[in-house]
Amino acid sequence: MITERVMDAATITSWMREIDASVRAERDHLVQLDAAIGDGDHGINMTRGFEAVVQALAADGGLPPGKLLGLAGRTLVSTVGGASGPLWGSALRSGGRVLGDQPSFDGPQLVDVLAAALASVKDLGTAAMGDKTMVDALEPAVETLRARIAAGDPLPQALDQAAAAAEAGMRATIPLQARKGRASYLGERSVGHQDPGATSTALIVRALQRAVTSPS
Ligand code: ADP
Ligand code: MG
Repeated sequence: MITERVMDAATITSWMREIDASVRAERDHLVQLDAAIGDGDHGINMTRGFEAVVQALAADGGLPPGKLLGLAGRTLVSTVGGASGPLWGSALRSGGRVLGDQPSFDGPQLVDVLAAALASVKDLGTAAMGDKTMVDALEPAVETLRARIAAGDPLPQALDQAAAAAEAGMRATIPLQARKGRASYLGERSVGHQDPGATSTALIVRALQRAVTSPS
């Protein structure tokens, strides 16, 4: 089976670097999306948060992957003021707890990490699919990854499918009316706009695919 490609601390560091680079590249777009249905800070929040994460991980002193995710999560909570900071912060911390102190992890364990991250977002934010939030991108990604890994797909292909599912979920937020977060205050006026948090979530899943496919 080729699904058993081993990932480790370097995979997490690479993932966080890839997120930092992609939210920075898309910062203005994320700001525009949030300006339309929120307060226009999402690109700034994500850039500030993941820049701090990369710095924190660079000084980590050889932590195992689960502990790196915990450190990344705590860093997001302490550096990001908007809703996305606590939500992604608790997501990464929950994902990290799945791995404990183990030095490496495989595809099925990566599914468990992302499933724990999703559960934590839903628990904290009380959003479900269709509420026009980051859940609309993260949940299809987790479900697709789980299904593709279970079907025996190689991890890079499974992650590519998961990232495509997140991107489809992101686009599917456009016609929805927001039921959670700041955008929900707009009621029907939130319809016709892509959710900023679903958009950054699609970037985060795509970043994971790149980190696993070509670790730097
Ligand atoms: P804020 O709304 O506090 O300014 P951000 O702009 O950084 O925070 O993030 C906004 C994004 O956070 C939204 O686009 C949405 O995807 C996500 N979000 C907001 N509230 C929730 C929630 N309760 N559950 C899940 N995601 C949420
Ligand atoms: Mg905002």
